[in-house]
Amino acid sequence: MQENHLESLLERKFSDSSPRGSDPDLPAIQPRLVAVSKTKPADMVIEAYSHGQRTFGENYVQELLEKASNPKILSSCPEIKWHFIGHLQKQNVNKLMAVPNLSMLETVDSVKLADKVNSSWQKKGSPERLKIMVQINTSGEESKHGLLPSETVATVEHIKAKCPSLEFVGLMTIGSFGHDLSQGPNPDFQVLLSLREELCKKLSIPTEQVELSMGMSLDFQHAIEVGSTNVRIGSTIFGERDHSKKPALDKSSADLKAPVEVAQAH
Ligand SMILES: *Cc1c(COP(=O)(O)O)cnc(C)c1O
Repeated sequence: MQENHLESLLERKFSDSSPRGSDPDLPAIQPRLVAVSKTKPADMVIEAYSHGQRTFGENYVQELLEKASNPKILSSCPEIKWHFIGHLQKQNVNKLMAVPNLSMLETVDSVKLADKVNSSWQKKGSPERLKIMVQINTSGEESKHGLLPSETVATVEHIKAKCPSLEFVGLMTIGSFGHDLSQGPNPDFQVLLSLREELCKKLSIPTEQVELSMGMSLDFQHAIEVGSTNVRIGSTIFGERDHSKKPALDKSSADLKAPVEVAQAH
């Protein structure tokens, strides 16, 4: 575990001395750090938790279910909050709903998926609504999941009107990798910012009630500067991932898009 990285991240980027705290033009809220522990063992989660980290992200349902149900994590990390950040297939919804301490689903990318999650969460009979974000494919790349930007308003409107077990909390995007900042701000993040503005105007939602989940290891600083409220950081905290160790069964539900889904236009 790159402990120093986690501590310096927590201190430098998520404390009052961050640019956000001192810049009057930026909202005063601190972004949430989602520590992305995919492919990493439970011990690393426990270690980060012992340093004060509470929110963790995973992008495979099976891996999340196993980690969140791990007896050591359950006993050492009573306040842990899990975010699901991967592509969710409908046949995996019930399995995801069974994850202990599931706090947020960041990747709702269709009305049908929202309806399925809504009814599955309803059946569970939890007293609280499930927090969800709507994922937008801001870069337009076929390899990325998410709604077309133009589908955002109608989808959120549907969720608010027809999915009483879900609490819509924000918009999420991955965006294209390797944007060169010398060419200006990342256009994918700008798309998410302007979608929030449009959404809030059309549905009369206060801006501060719509979070923006954007920014990963390589671009989280820029994402925070432009207004991210939720950054998802894996390798900078836990070290590079060893993909050769990933179990084969994860491949089908991976963030790699299956060819059949690419063919299904939204
Ligand atoms: C893996 C992953 C991350 C973290 O990536 P790093 O580059 O390791 O920080 C963030 N978001 C999503 C959706 C991911 O799948």
